[in-house]
Amino acid sequence: MTATRPDLPKHDLLIDGKRLPPGSGEYSTDINPATEEPIALVAQGSAADVDTAVLAARAALKSWAGMRAADRGRILNRFADLLEAHAEELITLESLDAGKPLAAVRRQDLPAVVDTVRYYAGWCDKIHGAVIPTRPDALTYTVREPVGVVAAIIPWNFPLMIGMWKIAPALACGCTLIVKPAEITPLTALRVAELALEAGVPPGVFNVVTGKGSVVGNALVAHPGIDKVTFTGSPGVGRGIMQGAASNFKRVTLELGGKSANVIFADADIDAATRAAASGIFFNSGQVCSAGSRILAQRKVYDEVVERLTTRARAIRVGDPASPDTTMGPVVSAAQMKTVLDYVEIGKREGASAVTGGARIGQRGFFVEPTVFANVEHEMRISQEEIFGPVASVIPFEDEAEAVRIANGTAFSLAAGVWSADIARVHKVAGELRAGTVWINTYGYTDVRLPWGGAGDSGLGREHGDAAIENFTEPKAIWLSLR
Ligand code: NAD
Repeated sequence: MTATRPDLPKHDLLIDGKRLPPGSGEYSTDINPATEEPIALVAQGSAADVDTAVLAARAALKSWAGMRAADRGRILNRFADLLEAHAEELITLESLDAGKPLAAVRRQDLPAVVDTVRYYAGWCDKIHGAVIPTRPDALTYTVREPVGVVAAIIPWNFPLMIGMWKIAPALACGCTLIVKPAEITPLTALRVAELALEAGVPPGVFNVVTGKGSVVGNALVAHPGIDKVTFTGSPGVGRGIMQGAASNFKRVTLELGGKSANVIFADADIDAATRAAASGIFFNSGQVCSAGSRILAQRKVYDEVVERLTTRARAIRVGDPASPDTTMGPVVSAAQMKTVLDYVEIGKREGASAVTGGARIGQRGFFVEPTVFANVEHEMRISQEEIFGPVASVIPFEDEAEAVRIANGTAFSLAAGVWSADIARVHKVAGELRAGTVWINTYGYTDVRLPWGGAGDSGLGREHGDAAIENFTEPKAIWLSLR
């Protein structure tokens, strides 16, 4: 939506250390999903703005990559200090823009963001190659060089945190970058880039071009001046990015969707398992790539699992994200609410029973009831397709073999959980689950020190830890003649 509301804060692009109006002169209206009220006007970038940003990022590359590594680390630590100093401002912005409960952003997102920056600050002066012996008349060694100019395309479900999973390692490796936040949640990326400048990240190193995926995202992916695209979002867009990136063989990392199975065996601690399963699907209104959206319950405890989940779903306090009592906010947009409610109808038509929830709450704000479906069969669409909302599908299974078959039976493979008191079984099942992360007798933790990602429709490559250092560097082999 293009708008001219002079009373709203107006956000320009951030390129080469400066706020620049978009070439198109157009701004979209950013909406608070809890109230549906406009909160800001945001620049609609164009392909020409992407050109400007790529030029700035290329020009800044040599000096940023050539800086003393320890100095880059110091700048990143200062950046982390500033993120901490501005925590409340960032928490408020993120909550307003994405509809997340303030308390959740304070407890989870912001600390993870700061932790990510500090972790990669520590990497700056530890990115090295090796001397690899080959022949007696040569000294042969490797160095790791920055991959170059990076395009980071970010989704709306964790704009700050997922953004920083890309920004921090790219900066640590000496890359320059252009961040494209999701069109509906652009505010924190812009503020974070300003804080990076204040911390001493030179102009041109960290640019933000806001706007539509089909315009700005597309232009970044097609641009010959971009060396790597790191993307988190939907499988459909990911596929297009991989195809587009082939134009100049850009490096690509894709973190896509999930339909994660949380497998509860009859000998598990059912109270703990259902508590974690409820937060595994209802946290962030279910808009989590690793949401445990399929809860697999062994037949003997199936009814108990459904009942306990239902009780927990009904106890969730859905409402104003600013209220300390709120445990679930709205979903992010009218479009997302429609998707979720459409899936509820699909589930009912397929013959699953909505034990609780399934409807919009109120008429203002995109609030959806926490929903539990029972009698879900593995082949149903609500069991196969990512809903990305607060909808749990509870599926029965008989034994270990059937649990693994169902858990592995979707196109996704991001994460899975397994609950049992049998230590041999949990290890065995963890080994058999096709997933980038498996949680045993817990669910949902992430840490930037551990690899994160999946295969199939869940993506390509891994983020976090040393995997991210590899993603943002290229090894170079060097031969020195000793003759
Ligand atoms: P999306 O794919 O619609 O958008 C993601 C980003 O891509 C946005 O910035 C968008 O503007 C941009 N984009 C859209 N079209 C584009 C194009 N043609 N070219 C380039 N960029 C384009 O996804 P979303 O709706 O923002 O996020 C939800 C999806 O993200 C879900 O499928 C979810 O599972 C996935 N996700 C995955 C992870 C993970 O770590 N694996 C984390 C969060 C979300």
